[in-house]
Amino acid sequence: MDLVVLSTGMVPSRHSVKLIETLGLNKDSYGFLTEVHGCLKPQETTNMGIYICGCAAGPKNIPSSVSTASAAASKAAILLSKDTIIQELIIAEVDENLCMGCQRCEKLCNYGAIKVDRDSIAQVDDLKCKGCGVCASSCPAHAIDIKYHRDIQFVEEIKGICCTELEYKEEYVDTIELITEKLKSLTP
Ligand code: SF4
Ligand code: SF4
Repeated sequence: MDLVVLSTGMVPSRHSVKLIETLGLNKDSYGFLTEVHGCLKPQETTNMGIYICGCAAGPKNIPSSVSTASAAASKAAILLSKDTIIQELIIAEVDENLCMGCQRCEKLCNYGAIKVDRDSIAQVDDLKCKGCGVCASSCPAHAIDIKYHRDIQFVEEIKGICCTELEYKEEYVDTIELITEKLKSLTP
């Protein structure tokens, strides 16, 4: 071999840091913007209406840049073509009486949808929240529930599954009691 040709290294734009901070977007360890999911939600960011393409999401050749730009433009056009936006109702809700302002939920939320306010109470941004449940499952005070998927609803579902018209099935009684006791202990 007589010749080795290396491509020039590529780094994110120096302005992207400010952009990411301002728009509340996610980045990878190299500082490039990241999509919500490369396969299921390509070009989409955690902020509805903001799409990324080309080298904003990492080094790409020209064909890839053009195709991702077309995809991003199409998604933006679809969003703008609607008169109304349907808001998902399955989102997080915080029990202010239980929240102790530890900020764990804020740090873990990938969508920047929950923030602790000046009164040390976590507040959910209904438009940003995707109802993923990460905050609810990680809150040490059990202060967060997901609407329509509250713990108490699951307990009732389990009871429904385990019940017959005649009586509880014996093998499930202990489990139900355990869950019920746990929930009682969480009630302020
Ligand atoms: S993790 Fe729970 S206790 Fe901590 S700030 Fe969030 S809601 Fe409040
Ligand atoms: S449910 Fe998910 S998206 Fe919504 S606030 Fe909690 S972690 Fe963020």
